[in-house]
Amino acid sequence: KQYPSNSKEVAIIGAGLVGCLAALNLAKLGYLVTIFEYRSDPRTIQDHQNLRSINLAISERGIAALQNIDLDLSKRILDQIVPMKGRLIHSAPNSSRSITYAQNYGVNGIECINSIDRNLLNIKLLNEIDTVPTIFAQFNRKLVNLIFPNEDQNDNANPILYFQSTTNQDSSSQNNILKRHDNFNFLIGADGSYSTTRSLLQKHIRMDFKQEYIDMAYLELFISSNPTHNTDSNSRFKLDKNYLHIWPRENFMLIALPNYDGSFTSTFFAPWHIMNSLNSNEEIISFFQTNFPDVLNSNLISQESLLNFFNSNPKSSLICTICNPYNYKGKCLLIGDAAHSMVPFYGQGMNCGFEDVRILSNLIIKNQFDIHDAFEEYTESRHRDLISILQLAKDNYKEMSSNVNSSIHLLSKRLDNGLSKILGDYWLPLYTMVSFRSDISYSQAIKINKRQYRILSTLQLSLLSFSVYFALKYSKPLLNFFNKK
Ligand code: FAD
Repeated sequence: KQYPSNSKEVAIIGAGLVGCLAALNLAKLGYLVTIFEYRSDPRTIQDHQNLRSINLAISERGIAALQNIDLDLSKRILDQIVPMKGRLIHSAPNSSRSITYAQNYGVNGIECINSIDRNLLNIKLLNEIDTVPTIFAQFNRKLVNLIFPNEDQNDNANPILYFQSTTNQDSSSQNNILKRHDNFNFLIGADGSYSTTRSLLQKHIRMDFKQEYIDMAYLELFISSNPTHNTDSNSRFKLDKNYLHIWPRENFMLIALPNYDGSFTSTFFAPWHIMNSLNSNEEIISFFQTNFPDVLNSNLISQESLLNFFNSNPKSSLICTICNPYNYKGKCLLIGDAAHSMVPFYGQGMNCGFEDVRILSNLIIKNQFDIHDAFEEYTESRHRDLISILQLAKDNYKEMSSNVNSSIHLLSKRLDNGLSKILGDYWLPLYTMVSFRSDISYSQAIKINKRQYRILSTLQLSLLSFSVYFALKYSKPLLNFFNKK
């Protein structure tokens, strides 16, 4: 690819979802971008078994970031999404509730979050990158060292990056020697939760960094599509395709998200002691028969497939990380999971990473391409939103695994939605602000929600006091009246 010679050069570390989007956005701003990826190009991998294929829910913040680059690009990327208008709860076997019941995500039943296969999304982004002559992608290149020369004296010196080849072919030969690059004006670290860029940056700046493993493991399962010759596309789906399906069981849960081809990607979440206790085939089947009998009995997943998933798919951990600051002068910035990884229970990890890209792009324009100022303002303004969404994501596990079953919780949700229907933008449920409003920041959403919660609690308390007052006032005369009769 031929680069125009007058532009600044940027290195992006990691060609995951966020790195790819950052490459597309920075190229649009006129930068010459090279994106380095540790793994092989996913388009060349035959066996997708080893790739994380977990489905993602993309919502307004993610979509707004795609649209910020180009409306047509956004349409191309999202042409195989499956909209989900709410949760469909599959009750516990001995529950007093009906077997399944729906809870819409939005207030009007029209707002949706959208299911998309992670690999497909990554591949679509890489295909877009191929069409941009000012982005150059290098696979099997692992960042291993990062040096900022003359840190105190020369603010204009480029960072020096060292990469190692990760192909078997290269590692046994002379090609495995470090590759040195000093042509990049700055670099963006989008290399995920275990970011090397972040570790290397920590040697240069006083960075606060916190990492926490959540006592929760997850395992991916799969619900195949219905074999059908029917032209009706809905009959391919074994479950209602317009919902995110949840089997909430307090300490653990199963979820399933629809795929475009009629299948569902399902994930089993459980604390490690439960996950590890399912050792034998008998234990696995018996656990599912007790807790998710409909999954086995209606053959959503056959016993054979279930055992296969348990015995061959990895059991993965969930990690939360946060750091501050995110930048080193105008030389390096962390975005996406490299800067903040969160538990997946609000479906916001990638959406938030995509929003990082949109916000960065806007700040570069606002600061008239002064990268130093843009990066400083990014760190200054973004941190409170990132800690807000990390906390919301943690809190939402309780919502998904148990609150969805609580009558009191559902009642206050109804009240919340009812008020929003009447008051419009003057009253917005928290989920709406987080998932359907990219113009409200995460920290603002929490602030507004706290205020609304206080009003709602006062309202509920007043209603309760009123009811008690009337009950006390009229119960005696009523009782007397009936006694006389
Ligand atoms: P990654 O996807 O981790 O990509 C980082 C890339 O950097 C990788 O390709 C890696 O190979 C590469 N790399 C690493 N080190 C180096 C190196 N030294 N040199 C070069 N390259 C390197 N988010 C949502 O928005 N909605 C959801 O519904 C949702 N569901 C989820 C469900 C689960 C079970 C999980 C675990 C996460 C979920 N997420 C969801 C979160 C989402 O997956 C992440 O936030 C998102 O993938 C982060 O993208 P990223 O590009 O920052 O990092």
